[in-house]
Amino acid sequence: MSVAVPVLVGEAARVPVIEARGVARTYPGTPAVRALHPSWLRIHAGEQLAILGASGSGKSTLLAILGTLDDPTEGTLLVDGRELTAMPEAKRSAIRASRISFVFQQFHLMPAVSAIENVATGLLYTGASPKERVERALLALDAVGLGHRLRHRPGELSGGEQQRVAIARALVREPAVLFADEPTGALDSATGEAIVELLTRIAGAGTAVVVVTHDAGVAERFTRRIRLKDGRILDPRPPEAEPSGVAASPNTGGADR
Ligand code: ADP
Ligand code: MG
Repeated sequence: MSVAVPVLVGEAARVPVIEARGVARTYPGTPAVRALHPSWLRIHAGEQLAILGASGSGKSTLLAILGTLDDPTEGTLLVDGRELTAMPEAKRSAIRASRISFVFQQFHLMPAVSAIENVATGLLYTGASPKERVERALLALDAVGLGHRLRHRPGELSGGEQQRVAIARALVREPAVLFADEPTGALDSATGEAIVELLTRIAGAGTAVVVVTHDAGVAERFTRRIRLKDGRILDPRPPEAEPSGVAASPNTGGADR
């Protein structure tokens, strides 16, 4: 072999969609708040992950960093294997828009417009025509079980239905990762259960779903779980905790070449 082109096989070919390498966050102030200690985490395509922790443990801080809404004060974040922290803002926004969606506890819908318009706004600035935006919004609302509530405004929908609209809006761009921050926090338990069921069902169809919650019952429904305590990721210790990732393979020293 004359050209050293790396051919990735097996595990090495699985570039995580999101990879956090030692990300930490300190909020300035007196005293400064160390909300997140250096943390390593990989999120792969299609997986479902719950991050469980008490109030104040750093869940929203971690989620905002993983979702590129906030910058870590230490460490680096990679999206599709590319280091985001080094990119100009325009490029970061483009990556965020095409790869990442959010759902929040308080839905964040526009009160004055219908469900379908709320969802269609998820496709603004993507190059989709108005007609395509509406068509895709229709499909997304159908996928979350709201095909019969297209023209209703948020105020005319139940809390669970509003959260479904928010999920449809997040899904309509077909993100690689859907992040949800306490998505059942404003819902009664039966309604919350249905939302969790929907989120776990969404995971896998090309979209990873990452939920943060203080509710162990919610976390239990996800195939992968990690716990946060006082700004630290606890056991089970993530196997990816080696800072250098795939580079740390001392047995491929080329003895056979
Ligand atoms: P959780 O989502 O688990 O409740 P957060 O990530 O919101 O936790 O907060 C983690 C810690 O960081 C808390 O002690 C909180 O008070 C603090 N914190 C969060 N946001 C800020 C901020 N903007 N400025 C200062 N401290 C903050
Ligand atoms: Mg929070």
